[in-house]
Amino acid sequence: MSYNEVTTGASQREPGKSDVQPLVLRNVSKAYRSSRNRKPLVKAVESVSFTVEPGRCVGLVGASGSGKSTIAKMVTGTERPDSGEILLGDLEIGKLRSRGLTTLYKRVQMVFQDPYGALNPVHTIEYTLGRPSMNHLGCSAAEAKRRTMELLMRVGLTPPHQFLAKLPHQLSGGQRQRVVIARALAAEPELLVADEPVSMLDVSLRAGILRLLADLQREHGLSMLYITHDLLSARIITDELLVLNQGKIVERGETAKVLQHPQDPYTVKLIDALPALGVGEEEAG
Ligand code: ADP
Ligand code: MG
Repeated sequence: MSYNEVTTGASQREPGKSDVQPLVLRNVSKAYRSSRNRKPLVKAVESVSFTVEPGRCVGLVGASGSGKSTIAKMVTGTERPDSGEILLGDLEIGKLRSRGLTTLYKRVQMVFQDPYGALNPVHTIEYTLGRPSMNHLGCSAAEAKRRTMELLMRVGLTPPHQFLAKLPHQLSGGQRQRVVIARALAAEPELLVADEPVSMLDVSLRAGILRLLADLQREHGLSMLYITHDLLSARIITDELLVLNQGKIVERGETAKVLQHPQDPYTVKLIDALPALGVGEEEAG
């Protein structure tokens, strides 16, 4: 995969975006139990602690099954931790119930891996993108439509009016993922959680979607938790890296530093698997 055109990830907070709060995880654990016996079967996430500072893009990198999506689900309120704290500013995400969850959905939005499954097949793009503006921001139908056009342009779906009446199946995979990103932005969240957002897309589309995510994150001054098994993509858009192995964070730090001087053997293994980042190569395409 080529990421040549992708802009680098150093993000800056936009003036006036001081309402973005840090995401803090403290000793968060989650085990999945089988339905038959009550014993913990899989320790999916074990005592994980990290912070996503406002306006930063933090990469959560690890192999399949390392617990990445479980962390994404807990941060977005669809799973609850067994123990530990998850805070967005003062909001205790790990303890939210229904009404609190509505508040959370305005502040934290998710971009899913599968752009096919993420959109309701019977809803037009206008409906899908207009709803969050009405529900979360209290826009009128006319305002919501104007915002929808703006969002479509922002994610590169132009001219926007050509997309309003379309259904998801009438769009390509890349266009759908752009709609998913636009929907995530519609509520003006503080934090975007992107769980393998390009891994199901055609290789030729990945760089464009990554660049879009990085640009939007910077422009909007929001924070991002970028989840991937692909160190190469993380290298391009993240400020910091967390390396997850079997539910535990084994390494963390500024992205460039971790990649140049990995401390944990597991990180070394991940880096060695990338030919472009092999010893002596600082800047590979
Ligand atoms: P990743 O996203 O890094 O691939 P996951 O967070 O999806 O990892 O999964 C971590 C571990 O937890 C895996 O061993 C997985 O099989 C297990 N797991 C995830 N969700 C469930 C579930 N709902 N029930 C039982 N086990 C689960
Ligand atoms: Mg996953």
